[in-house]
Amino acid sequence: GAVIGIIGGGQLGRMLASAAARLGFATVVLDPDPACPAAQLASRVIIGSYGDTAALAELAKACDVISYEFENVPIEPVSRIAGLRPVYPPVQALEVSQDRVVEKAFLNGIGIATAPWRAVDDAQELAHARLDLGGDCILKTRRFGYDGKGQMTLDAADERDDGFEALGSVAAILEKKIPFEREISVVAARDLQGTIRCFDPAENVHRAGILHTSTVPASISAQTADQAADIAGRILTQLDYTGVIGVEFFVSGDGALLVNEIAPRVHNSGHWTEAAVTVSQFEQHIRAIAGLPLGSTQRHSDCVMQNLIGDDVLQTDALLQQSDLMLTLYGKAEVRAGRKMGHFTVVHPRPNH
Ligand code: ATP
Ligand code: MG
Ligand code: MG
Repeated sequence: GAVIGIIGGGQLGRMLASAAARLGFATVVLDPDPACPAAQLASRVIIGSYGDTAALAELAKACDVISYEFENVPIEPVSRIAGLRPVYPPVQALEVSQDRVVEKAFLNGIGIATAPWRAVDDAQELAHARLDLGGDCILKTRRFGYDGKGQMTLDAADERDDGFEALGSVAAILEKKIPFEREISVVAARDLQGTIRCFDPAENVHRAGILHTSTVPASISAQTADQAADIAGRILTQLDYTGVIGVEFFVSGDGALLVNEIAPRVHNSGHWTEAAVTVSQFEQHIRAIAGLPLGSTQRHSDCVMQNLIGDDVLQTDALLQQSDLMLTLYGKAEVRAGRKMGHFTVVHPRPNH
């Protein structure tokens, strides 16, 4: 069978390697850490930084197709290996999702609504942008933020004017704080023929900026669910995308949707698919990038996925006492506060699905 290359050996790379193996594919992972979570399941680990030209060339040589498990892969060296082997999702998806300003400009440019925003490059621009947007706002670094890191809420009443410096004096974006009713996400896939399939939207609850639970079905109307799938599909088509994408939304009280951000990869809020759909997001991604037909996204169960963050992983023994939940541990030796250690999904089979 074909060999699949994955840049990044975290838990997403690990779960991709597992899905690939089930379909008979070997996986070669590029990661600086020989003991990365994916190492236990990959056929081989190439040790190197994600932008290491020599390591990337070695990866290209070892694989038939290359993918990645996080969006901060350095663009320039990856573009170079894209001439040697197909890179899916396409490099354009990395460019769009690495920078929150580029991302929002792209979305707005194809008619997709986001929170109102302003690019902010210094303290003065921040002051202007706050006046301009008005009300409560969130200041975020343009690049490298995840799990709510690199963000700061600036309440309308808060007169502090050192927000730009406090965030590290790096290129930033100011977003209007959206009084959303709930957050949802859609994990969708596009294959090489351009066929698109979306899993059902998950309703997501965050704690301290980190995803806590994803519940399916989300408490939204069928119309809102269709709109979310339609938006995800438009993004996929516009990017001439191959693979799985995660699209995060804010849902307002009247069901209106704003896109928060997109992730050009399998997504934490799609982990439930392993427990409640025949073909998971991980298998769907492998199918798409390997040129295979997509699987059905039909859900056979309702479910709730919960992350195990830091010390939460100490619940493992208790969770194993609940014999009907699906537990996934990422094989990370060191427990750190805020670190994603695993997740579990409780399923409620639907009687007449
Ligand atoms: P991820 O780990 O999903 O990549 P991230 O660090 O990129 O997260 P965001 O998704 O931008 O961060 O924000 C994290 C959470 O903060 C959101 O899911 C939402 O709950 C809240 N949030 C972010 N932006 C806004 C906004 N403009 N208005 C209201 N809430 C927001
Ligand atoms: Mg993000
Ligand atoms: Mg997010």
